[in-house]
Amino acid sequence: MKKPNARRHPLQNVRAFRGALLRWFGETAKSYPWRETTDPWEILVSEIMLQQTTVTSVLANRRFENFLDEFPSIEIIANAPEEKILRAWEGLGYYNRVRNLQKAARAVLENFEGTFPSDAATLETLPGIGRYTAGAVSSFAFDQPSPIVDGNIARVLSRILDIHEPIDSTSGQKKIWQAAGELLDQKNPRLFNSAIMELGQTLCTPRSPECLICPVRNFCQASSPADLPVKKPRKKFVAVEEHAFLHIQGGKILLSLGEDSRRKGFWKLPLREAERCAHLEPASKHRYVITHHKVTLHLYRSDPGDLLDGEKYHALTELESLPIATPVRKILVAEQ
Ligand code: SF4
Repeated sequence: MKKPNARRHPLQNVRAFRGALLRWFGETAKSYPWRETTDPWEILVSEIMLQQTTVTSVLANRRFENFLDEFPSIEIIANAPEEKILRAWEGLGYYNRVRNLQKAARAVLENFEGTFPSDAATLETLPGIGRYTAGAVSSFAFDQPSPIVDGNIARVLSRILDIHEPIDSTSGQKKIWQAAGELLDQKNPRLFNSAIMELGQTLCTPRSPECLICPVRNFCQASSPADLPVKKPRKKFVAVEEHAFLHIQGGKILLSLGEDSRRKGFWKLPLREAERCAHLEPASKHRYVITHHKVTLHLYRSDPGDLLDGEKYHALTELESLPIATPVRKILVAEQ
């Protein structure tokens, strides 16, 4: 999309750039539950939850509010059993996120007497908290001048400054973070970070940026915005074949506690080697994607004469309260 010729470079006109962005945000800011709070625990929960889960999905199912109803403080989550926190996170995927939330809560209690540090560098020492999350908690909860860069902000900044290095490369990341720091409004870091993130969510979108109504169009250096940001080639999915049994007897179902990185702490269907099932006819076949794996699961009914380590019978009535990965739960619902 063609843009006006008289563009002012944002880094040479930072005050005007910030002013244009904040005026627009003041008029159009969306209302989200995590924008109604400055409690660092609540901000941290929202930031961790919104990594790899869309805003729409979190809002639609009240996942943020429900999680905080169950774990309203770091003391409560610090003492909760893992099974309970996994159950509360079920369906959101990437379960190490909630394990790290618990570890971070414990670290705040043990190392900071229960009070969150406000500066990004100290926040980054907490388990599972990277540079982005540290900056987000620091700026959103404490209004500290800490820059943040997530996918939306990286896209906006790469376009505004016409950066053609891959944003997921070391040098690209360095440039983007530097730009985020230089453009950040030191007096209004909470508002500025929210505004630039929202610009990426609403107008400066991946495929069709709405440059004609963009509040910072007169500063934007990109000649071909839709071609930015540049990214490194994508990691390929790994195809996995699994052979599982649906074995139910006397109102009980045989399940296995996952130990592999994809499903640690979650109950799954008992798996067997392909050779062990070669003579059997699968009752059904299921395909699903989990992390970077494309799984084809061949499901057989009944059998296990043998029980393996980690396998246990559970009453069918218990299924609702057990942590079970979403694809497996869907198979159970479809097959029972
Ligand atoms: S919407 Fe267009 S003008 Fe605005 S920052 Fe994105 S690419 Fe630039």
